[in-house]
Amino acid sequence: MNRHVILGGGVAGRRAAEIIRKRDAEAEIVIVDEQEEAFYYRPMLGELLAGTLGPEQIIATDKERLAQLDVKVLAGTRVASLDPKAQEVVLSSGERLPFDKALIASGTRTEKIAGDDGKGRGVVYLDTLPDALHINSLLGAARHAVIYGASLHAINAVRGLRARGIDCTVLLPDERFWKGLLDPIASEIVEDRLAQEGVTLIKQTEIKDLVWEDSDLKGVVPSKGDKLPADLLVVAAPQNPRVDYLEGTGLVGENGVRVDQNLRTGNENIFAAGDVAAMPASHTGEVVQQPGWLSAWRQGNVAGLNMAGQGAAYAGFPALRTKVLDLDVVCFGLSDAQGEGVKVESGDYPYDELPYIYKKVVYKDGKVVGAVFTGDASEAGAVEGWIRKGLKAGECDKKVLDQMFQARIQPLSALGALCPICKFQMQIGEEAEEGSVETCPACGANFRLDRMPNGAFRAVLVG
Ligand SMILES: Cc1cc2nc3c(=O)[nH]c(=O)nc-3n(C[C@H](O)[C@H](O)[C@H](O)COP(=O)(O)OP(=O)(O)OC[C@H]3O[C@@H](n4cnc5c(N)ncnc54)[C@H](O)[C@@H]3O)c2cc1C
Repeated sequence: MNRHVILGGGVAGRRAAEIIRKRDAEAEIVIVDEQEEAFYYRPMLGELLAGTLGPEQIIATDKERLAQLDVKVLAGTRVASLDPKAQEVVLSSGERLPFDKALIASGTRTEKIAGDDGKGRGVVYLDTLPDALHINSLLGAARHAVIYGASLHAINAVRGLRARGIDCTVLLPDERFWKGLLDPIASEIVEDRLAQEGVTLIKQTEIKDLVWEDSDLKGVVPSKGDKLPADLLVVAAPQNPRVDYLEGTGLVGENGVRVDQNLRTGNENIFAAGDVAAMPASHTGEVVQQPGWLSAWRQGNVAGLNMAGQGAAYAGFPALRTKVLDLDVVCFGLSDAQGEGVKVESGDYPYDELPYIYKKVVYKDGKVVGAVFTGDASEAGAVEGWIRKGLKAGECDKKVLDQMFQARIQPLSALGALCPICKFQMQIGEEAEEGSVETCPACGANFRLDRMPNGAFRAVLVG
């Protein structure tokens, strides 16, 4: 009987466990996770801050699933180190867990800001459910928040804090959001949406200093401009792979645990998946992190198959799938490529009457290599498939391209909805009805269809 030990019970680790069990009824599967809470949807932490969902609503509805699959979860248990030679995982208690196959799926964590000893009140992070609850506990007296970073964590913080009426200033380290993924037009759409919500943006700025009164935060001094009043500083960047316990294993590269397309590390019995890993992007071969909920879920699939002895390759590339307030934002691959051999198709977007909708497909040397969608991501699933298959421009479905770039007003039947958790773009059939409960075919979350004022469907998490 094989023993599989999974380090980290987030979406990647959990999915791998499910897949291994499907292929191997006998295997012993153990997940070690320092998190004490049941599995929850991290992308919904902004809703928790906003007060629109409670903790019980962002905890996965199938709480008992792993127990039913006979997967043992050591919750509240930290992995202290990994011994690849002895094939053992060492727990912080000193206990050693031998394994036949191991999966590193420990995710990332936001780097602590210099000088934060955790003693002052007001400097916060938004990586976990306890982080979100901690922020909520400080909201009573808070009036002004500064959010540092252009991460999904930052966007979630803004979503929650604005809903609570707190003044928000975002310090962007770069000159725009998600450079390398969002192009300047898409970033401007995101910036405009935030400005409409009353959010102030200061670009190309770092934190220079913090102002305290006793042990309460009172202000943030940015590297550019005057001191900003702040009762809260949400540090939302950078996110670093959690690899401290892997020191000396030789498995960690420059940007995470380095794996090949089978998600196998340099050691044939050790795999890695999710935000902690860096793997070759299918369209460039470059070894990069490919973070995000859906990417982690898909990598968990592939790692699980390989651990169970069924060869599978991961064909992914960097992607961003999120919601900025109510604005869907999806981009894939080389979405902001420039230079020789690059051709871009973006129709007449953005239209005056729908300024937040923008779509773009990027070709390099005649092949589809990237795409951007804001405001409506109906065709995102199709275009992602083209990139994955390495299709040439002439091989792409013309109907989809016409729908993207020719129709100024889209027929309702063409509209899809993004899964509220993994942001997979789902096709919604014409027979779909308002209020019906569906299941995301990618991550399995249940959602309800709500009709938006423009007739399109929006998927809302069912707690
Ligand atoms: C506020 C917020 C908003 C987000 N919004 C979006 C979004 O809109 N779209 C999107 O695609 N993604 C979003 N994400 C990112 C998404 O949640 C991650 O990409 C995804 O969770 C990665 O999954 P993972 O399994 O790799 O890692 P994680 O979900 O981070 O799980 C890793 C697990 O490993 C455990 N662990 C770490 N080290 C150890 C150790 N030494 N011992 C034991 N256990 C350990 C941790 O406790 C954790 O449970 C968001 C994340 C946050 C925090």
